[in-house]
Amino acid sequence: VSARGAERERTQCVVVDIEGTTSSIASVTRQLFPYARERLSEWIRRDDRQVAAVRAEVRAATGRPGAGPDELAAVLRDWQDGDAKVPALKTLQGLIWAAGFAVGDLVGHVYPDVPPALAAWTAAGYDVHVYSSGSVLAQRLWFRYSGAGDLTGYVTGWHDTRTAGPKREPASYHRITAAIGTAPAHTTFLSDVAAELDAARTVGWRTVLVRRPGEPAGPRGAHRMVRSFADPSITLATRTRIGRAPASAELRSA
Ligand SMILES: [Mg+2]
Repeated sequence: VSARGAERERTQCVVVDIEGTTSSIASVTRQLFPYARERLSEWIRRDDRQVAAVRAEVRAATGRPGAGPDELAAVLRDWQDGDAKVPALKTLQGLIWAAGFAVGDLVGHVYPDVPPALAAWTAAGYDVHVYSSGSVLAQRLWFRYSGAGDLTGYVTGWHDTRTAGPKREPASYHRITAAIGTAPAHTTFLSDVAAELDAARTVGWRTVLVRRPGEPAGPRGAHRMVRSFADPSITLATRTRIGRAPASAELRSA
């Protein structure tokens, strides 16, 4: 292991989920998807190089080379309603969202305790990563145009189900560990879903369940639990393994 590699191995890393963790679930689902759906028909008509590529992809995917804008829009709406993972739809949604955030129609909600925690972890030398089922593009927009200002400067890396894989599969956490180079034992994952934390723990990550007041409370699992990023047990989690009682000195300093 090189000196640089050894240094990376010692780095502390915090990985955060977005929906239900940094941000309310409704702020994502009730905002982004309806916003895109209402605009698919107008956008698919645009005289734009990227949109032209989307039109070509939809025509190819449906086997209807002569499909007009109304037909293309109907296909795109069906895909969105069926949560189809079609690249052409993802591309067009991304273009619509980017424009919506840029003009202030869309704002990335983050709980008020999130920005100070990101700042504190960064100041402490931790790397902060995001792992969310939303696309990396949508994640970046969410943090760039958050209600608390541009938070992208705090984030070292972005991971989604395309780059890493599904959130309840251990292999996804292996991939992120390989991508970021931080030792699993020095990586702490914050999520509102215990099944995701269970998967992360199988590869050696530390885990904290975030249970935001007002959000659906699923199973807790055997994880530390906090209601806010201001909870000092998050920092404690990066230093101690669950299952071992923290030393009293650690509790006092927390
Ligand atoms: Mg979540």
